[in-house]
Amino acid sequence: MDNVDYNCIFCAIAAKRAPASIVYESDEAMAFLDIQPVVEGHTLVIPKKHCRNIFDLDDESGKAVMRASRIVAHALRETFNADGLTILQSNERAGGQAVFHYHAHLAPRFYNDGLMSRTETERRMQWRARGKPSRQALDALAEKIRAHIKDE
Ligand code: 5GP
Ligand code: ZN
Repeated sequence: MDNVDYNCIFCAIAAKRAPASIVYESDEAMAFLDIQPVVEGHTLVIPKKHCRNIFDLDDESGKAVMRASRIVAHALRETFNADGLTILQSNERAGGQAVFHYHAHLAPRFYNDGLMSRTETERRMQWRARGKPSRQALDALAEKIRAHIKDE
């Protein structure tokens, strides 16, 4: 595949040269479980092509990521019977980005889950990793979510 950064962990995952608990995959996008989930089912959606972040994302990759996000969002909602879902996407270090291959975080949400509270004027984010599940546990969860994927 063109546009591969050989030092990029998400390129390695997209090329299946590094392990990941894959939830969904299309020709141009992939969704897999975050290794340090802030909530059960915390999923990352990436373009397979190496794009650093929103400032570098091409239309085709953006479209593929959005389509994958929509499909995975439905599957997450069904799997966990979630009340909602939050998408977080950070750009550059100042924007909170740590891995420099475009990714959107999808977090299933529940009333009073503490991940983000809000009033009319303020949002308070408690984006905190809750442990580091084993690969086996992540794989089992990914399989559960995959059973709810409806790829139209
Ligand atoms: P950022 O802070 O850049 O928005 O998010 C990076 C995310 O990638 C973090 O939530 C982190 O836990 C996750 N992450 C980092 N390395 C890996 C990895 O090798 N595999 C997976 N599945 N997630 C990773
Ligand atoms: Zn990459």
